[in-house]
Parts: sequence; C-alpha cells; structure tokens
Amino acid sequence: MEKSLVLIKPDALQRGITGDIITRFEKVGLKIVGAKMIVAPEELANKHYPKDREEFIVGMGNKTLENYKEQGIDPVEILGTDDPKKIGLELQSWLVEFITSSPILALVLEGPHAIEVIRKLAGFTLPSKAEPGTIRGDYSFDSSSYANISKRPIRNLIHASGNLEEAEFEVGLWFTPQELFDYETIHQRHMTV
Ligand code: ATP
Ligand code: MG
Repeated sequence: MEKSLVLIKPDALQRGITGDIITRFEKVGLKIVGAKMIVAPEELANKHYPKDREEFIVGMGNKTLENYKEQGIDPVEILGTDDPKKIGLELQSWLVEFITSSPILALVLEGPHAIEVIRKLAGFTLPSKAEPGTIRGDYSFDSSSYANISKRPIRNLIHASGNLEEAEFEVGLWFTPQELFDYETIHQRHMTV
C-alpha cells in the first residue's frame, strides 16, 4: 500500500476538468484519503518545488534540454543558457509563480503501487509527448519549447509524486495526519480475499 500526492493544478481547475481527472483515479480503484482546495502560500510552493534538491532541478533542466535537442531548438536562444541547473532554477521560479496564482486541489490517493499507477495515468511530463489515454496526453498538447517562449511552466494539469521518498515528503508537506482518512472501499474487499 502506498500513498501519493496529486495536485490538480490551476489550469485543470480553470478548464473545468477536475471531475474527469478524479474519475480516472477512482476508476482504477485508487482511494481518496485526503482532499483540500487551497491557494498555496509561496513558502509551501517553494518547499514543494525545492531549489536545493539538485536531482529535481537538474532533472528538469536535462528533460528540457533533451526535448529541445529533439526539436532542433537552441536552448541558449530561448532560455539564455544550456546549463541544466540554471534552466531548472528558472523553471522552478515559474512553477512557484504558477502554482500560487490560483486555487489548486490537493489529493492524497492510496492503493497498491499507487505512485507508479498514478504516474502511468498522468502520462509523460511533456503533454505533446504523453501517450493518448493518459491525463496529460488526452487533455493537453503543451511542450517545453512552446511554454518557454512565454517564460511559463508547461501546463500539464497535474502534479504526481515521482517516487516513494518524494511521496512521503509531499504528503506530509500538504496534509496533517488528522486530514488523512481511512475507510474501506469495494476494491479492497475484492482484492484482499
Ligand atoms: P510533476 O512533478 O508535476 O508530476 P514530472 O515529475 O512529470 O511532473 P518534473 O520534471 O518533476 O516533471 O517537472 C515538474 C513540473 O515542471 C512539470 O510538471 C511541469 O509543469 C514543469 N516543467 C518541467 N519541465 C519544464 C519545461 N521544460 N518547461 C516548462 N515547465 C516545465
Ligand atoms: Mg516531478
């Protein structure tokens, strides 16, 4: 059993597809154990997207560089640098600005292999490359090159914890233990006999 954090970001709320997104998680059997609507304070957003987590910042930078390379775009022209860390830090500031700009819906979902299952349903980070059938693939077509020209983060509708360590940290960051609930679902009854 795992718990994972999902943030339904401002773009999804503003487009009125929150219900559709939640339905996809419910359909596979994931249990909603926490839910809250919130305008994230800047401090919380900065903890969620930590500037000092090298792996996260450089990872975002490298993903961006790979995408630019594939498209034959010069990162220096759009972002002024080809240093993954500098790119990651720039993206981080756009992310914080975006996530604090309008209400979001924070969810904690629980189930066997929840983290991996949610990532599978979410699809690849860059919507233009996300498979059809995934949330990002079905509801968006944004790309890094397109987003970065306007100096904004990719509108990819949701955030989902990337691994167990991230999930434990993020669930604790957004929810107190009292805000998490336990109850039995039909899926549990069918899968534990
Ligand atoms: P998330 O953590 O939101 O579930 P992810 O793990 O698939 O997404 P990360 O590499 O952690 O992707 O990036 C975090 C977020 O940063 C992405 O969801 C996206 O909104 C934004 N982002 C990532 N790369 C870029 C980019 N090149 N340009 C603009 N925004 C980006
Ligand atoms: Mg991530």
